[in-house]
Amino acid sequence: MENFELAIIGGGIVGCALFSCAVREGISTVLLEKGDDVASYASKANSGIVHSGYDPIPNSKMAKYNVLGNALYESMCRRLGEKMIKCGTLTVGREKDRLKLEKLLARGKQNGVKGLRIIEKKELFEMEPNLNPEIECALFAPTGAVVSPFGVCIGLVEEGIINGGTILTNFDVVDASKCDGGYQIKSQYKREVNAKFVVNCAGPNASFVNELFGDKVFDLSFVKGEYILLDKSSQGFVHHPIFPLPDEKGKGVLANITVYGNILLGPTAVPCEQSDTKVEIKGVEKIQSSVLKSIRSPNFKQTIKLFAGVRVKAGDDFVVERSSKNKNYYYAVGICSPGLTAAPAIAEEFLAWLKQDGIKTNKIEIKKRKPYVCTRDLNTQELKKLVKQNPSYGKVVCRCESVSEGEILDALSSPLPPTSIAAIKRRVSPTMGRCQGRACIPKIIKIWAEFRRKQKNKN
Ligand SMILES: Cc1cc2nc3c(=O)[nH]c(=O)nc-3n(C[C@H](O)[C@H](O)[C@H](O)COP(=O)(O)OP(=O)(O)OC[C@H]3O[C@@H](n4cnc5c(N)ncnc54)[C@H](O)[C@@H]3O)c2cc1C
Repeated sequence: MENFELAIIGGGIVGCALFSCAVREGISTVLLEKGDDVASYASKANSGIVHSGYDPIPNSKMAKYNVLGNALYESMCRRLGEKMIKCGTLTVGREKDRLKLEKLLARGKQNGVKGLRIIEKKELFEMEPNLNPEIECALFAPTGAVVSPFGVCIGLVEEGIINGGTILTNFDVVDASKCDGGYQIKSQYKREVNAKFVVNCAGPNASFVNELFGDKVFDLSFVKGEYILLDKSSQGFVHHPIFPLPDEKGKGVLANITVYGNILLGPTAVPCEQSDTKVEIKGVEKIQSSVLKSIRSPNFKQTIKLFAGVRVKAGDDFVVERSSKNKNYYYAVGICSPGLTAAPAIAEEFLAWLKQDGIKTNKIEIKKRKPYVCTRDLNTQELKKLVKQNPSYGKVVCRCESVSEGEILDALSSPLPPTSIAAIKRRVSPTMGRCQGRACIPKIIKIWAEFRRKQKNKN
């Protein structure tokens, strides 16, 4: 039995953001995650856009947390050493759409979004020469940005761990009960933790977890978003996330950039089951035809990966509440888009409630998280210097993404060590390129085995 002041259930972006906030306040915190790594669900498969906030309905929780979260991202990414491309976003239309764009602009202003403006064809095509020639105007939102969604989650959790927080992965919360001064939470393997305060951020299972605590149950629906990822040789085809006009189904199929240099096309919006991340041929065709309404045809032959993420909805707005039934229990339910953007603000709201409700904080000296070395971003001089200090940074393992043995070893000895090739990929990006790991997976396994052997001998 382990005792904590705070237990957070679910290591998606909301849980990870709260974990880092709480630990930095000196709160004894445990993050309980069902998967073998953080960002196991929606937080690893989305568009990676830090939305400006012109789209959500004014006065909704979505609008509030979107705009506040957007304002927190830059300093958070700087603190974590995570890449953020501050490119702004474009929502494009034809002359007949101008009124709709102006309505979006007005809505954005009402939500408190800064710098929004309608731009005309000449300026627009200077910014994005590969737009569909029929496009005539656009809403430019300069505060929109792009991040690595799983990179941010990993950064937040690593920061929490090096500052004294605890994370238990493979901890599927299946039971909960009240105990002296708090709650007892049990995993599928009968592992138990006690906590005085509990925040439920369990994404697709948030309503189920509420049920375990005898709290409010929500009717959730699931909507799949399929994507096409183009190889890095497509880099420069577009320079911003390019949205069509949003409709009742959502923000539509967009052409987007990634922090890794790829072009990302999608997502679709297909009602689905909770764990359905299959990409259907219908979805691929839908993306290919829809995206052409906004841009000229990209080279679809550069496709290297198809993937899908699932949005969780509990009606038209986010549910972020302090329980009225259970003391010191809080929950985030139905955090669909723009949840990646909103997460830092949702975390701050929870933290404020926890403090109001008397959670114990301590002053701690905050240690800075060390970001991963990325040899492909170094110039020749910098790389030479690094390789002189540590020759393993000079041994290339993944040729497509230029990832060295040193970077793989950094991932293996990181604060939350990976337990799968996919988790290594999410930390230092081998297997992300054109061959999708066909050439480098055997080499990674060999490095991993040798690393484990050395670790065993040390102990
Ligand atoms: C296709 C798509 C595109 C999107 N694009 C964007 C975008 O560009 N910008 C944006 O702002 N937002 C976007 N979103 C929304 C964003 O991805 C989500 O809002 C966000 O990831 C939700 O985070 P979360 O922490 O609430 O939940 P999740 O990421 O779902 O995390 C919940 C975690 O809880 C864990 N868990 C579940 N049950 C249990 C249990 N019983 N015990 C322990 N752990 C449990 C899960 O394993 C999971 O890791 C998009 C979403 C999708 C699907």
